[in-house]
Order: sequence, then structure tokens, then C-alpha cells
Amino acid sequence: MKITKVETVLLSRMHEPHEQWVTSTLRIVKADCPVVVVHTDEGLTAIGEACAYGGPGLIREWVDWYSRTLVGQDPRSTAIVPHTNGRTWAHDCAVAGIDCALWDLRGQIEGKRVSTLLASSPLEKVRLYASSGCRYDWRIRPEQLIDEALEYIEQGFTAMKFRIGTHWDWDGVTVDRFLGLVRELHQTVAGRMELMLDGNQRLSEEQALAIAKELDRLGFAWFEEPIPQADVDGYARLNGAVDLPISGGEQYTTLEQFRPYLEKGAYGIVQPDAGICGISELMRIAEVAHDYGVDLCPHSWHNGLMCLANAHAVAALPNPRVLELCMIQGPLQWGVLAEKPAIEDGWLTLPERSGLGVTLTDRAAEKYPYVEGNYFIEVVR
Ligand SMILES: [Mg+2]
Repeated sequence: MKITKVETVLLSRMHEPHEQWVTSTLRIVKADCPVVVVHTDEGLTAIGEACAYGGPGLIREWVDWYSRTLVGQDPRSTAIVPHTNGRTWAHDCAVAGIDCALWDLRGQIEGKRVSTLLASSPLEKVRLYASSGCRYDWRIRPEQLIDEALEYIEQGFTAMKFRIGTHWDWDGVTVDRFLGLVRELHQTVAGRMELMLDGNQRLSEEQALAIAKELDRLGFAWFEEPIPQADVDGYARLNGAVDLPISGGEQYTTLEQFRPYLEKGAYGIVQPDAGICGISELMRIAEVAHDYGVDLCPHSWHNGLMCLANAHAVAALPNPRVLELCMIQGPLQWGVLAEKPAIEDGWLTLPERSGLGVTLTDRAAEKYPYVEGNYFIEVVR
């Protein structure tokens, strides 16, 4: 069998004005989805989602560049997969999309799910956590966060991750004010949901430490990216100061980038994403992290195809925990696929069919035509 064509389908959908949200100073206006499609001479078609944060246009250029070496090769050989190198995001997201599509293809060729190719006895279902909590506005009605949490409980979710809201300087938000909202949320969900917080690298170490101690006391599952990513020693100090795991690494694409954090005990949980580093590299990171006693809970934002790639990886992990499900991506999230996998009571059942188990929707590019330009606009208040 030979690869005959490798292409990238770019899809977009503008969010309706009332569905847009502001995180920090950015208003998110659009959902994008770059899909790498691999074709073979035996009529098989495989797909993999590259994380749109790499920039859809640039991702397509890198995929085109690699297609010249991939066409004519046997897709069963793992040696043909290009490597992520941690230098540019566009490159690594493109490689990740190719890697996911090639896993889909290998699964189809062998008639097995990707999770079964990755581990001898993978899970059939993966527990999801509702990921959002980024619509609340400190100026308007921060309690919207609590309403949102109650909606997720209603939908059957048993875990939720939220963010720290709009830009704190706009409204003089302090750690104390923020923790007031956190305690209110915690009291309202009262043991019905596990909670996680994502700081999106926006806090100082001093702020992060005060918050980490309170989250630890409240029994949060983890505290994600509290401070700027590159501060390995700061992460090590925070992770060492509390029992609560400090997590991160969603933007990293190689095991080598995770290694200093693991060596210094800087992450209690690692969070690579198959759409950013590829399934192959994610599994390598998982294995080494496991040797350090660190679990992997992937970052998994954006669309359903990436969610499936991460779900197969989670199902195959040495100690599977939870998978992130973006709650605010809009209709493109599952519209990209011909069939949505079963999600019930906060659990995703891996599709029966081989590979990643899903196909691209018909006339995808007609339904979700690509819209050039950035997915956010900078807000000035
Ligand atoms: Mg995050």
C-alpha cells in the first residue's frame, strides 16, 4: 500500500456575537479546524486534526511540504512520520495532524482502533471534563461562572475546568476577590463536581501561591499554568509547596521540552495535546512522565477530531484520568465529523470502527468555508 496524496482541508465558523467570549484581553470570534487528509492507492482515506493555534494557512504550507516526501511511501512504516522539533508551532501542529492521520490509517489497515494499537488493554470509555468557565466578565456578572457549572452538572459532567476571567487590571480584581468567587462556586457544586483551574500563565508567583494553597484546601484536582510557562524553577517551587498538582505543557511538542520539568518536579500533571505534538510524541511523553510518577491529562481544545485523537491516547495511558472537552467551540466542533461519538453522563465511548473511528462530514468545505484572519480581536476597555 502506498500514500497517494496528503492534503489539508481548512474549515472555519464565525461565532455569533452572543457566543463570542473575552478571555484576558482577547475576544474570541471564530472557530477554525485544519484537517490533514491522507489518501492511499487502495482507496483508504484517513484524517487528523492539527491544532488551529499553529495558524491554519501555515499548517497547510508545512503539510504540503511534507507531502512531497510522504507520497509514494508505505503508511504502515512509522519511520516515515516527520518529527516535531519544538521550534515553530505551525510546523509542529502540521506534523501532529499528519501523525494523527497516519495513526487513523494504520488502524484502518489493521482493522483495529488506534487505542488498541497503542496499548494491550485500553479503556472503552474515557471520562470527560467540561472545559470552559471563560465566559464570565468581572465587570458584568462574574456569577455567570456558577450558572455555567450548574448547567454542566445538569448535563451529567462530573468535572469542570474554568479560567480566571477578563483582564484583572480592567476592574481591579485581586486574589481575594477571585478566591471569593472560587469559594462560592465550590460551595454551590458541593462535591457534585471535581474542579480544576487554568491560570493561562497570567499570574505572578506570589498570586499563584496564594491561590494554589486555597485550591489545595478546597480539594481541586489541579491548578494549570498559573505562571509563565518558561519559569521551570517557579513551577518547581509552586508544585513543591502544595499537595495539589501544578500542571502544564499544552504548548510543548517534544519530550525534551518536558524533561527539565520532570527532572525538577515542576509539573504534578503533564498536558501535551495530540493535535499539537502528535499521538506518537504524546505517548512517549506519557511513558517518561509515568516513570517520574506524573500522570498525563491532555490539553484538548477545539474540535471533535482532535478530541478523538486525544481520547484514543487517554484510553491507552498507563494511568488514564480525564480528557478535556471544550464546551464553547460551537457547531464546528462536531459538525466537522460525519458522526458524533456517544457522549453520555460525561463519558465518551470510543467508536467501534477502526482507526480513530470517525470520518469527515460530506461537503465539509462548503458547510464550513475557511475564513482568513485571526480567531481573536484585542479588546481595549
Ligand atoms: Mg490550559
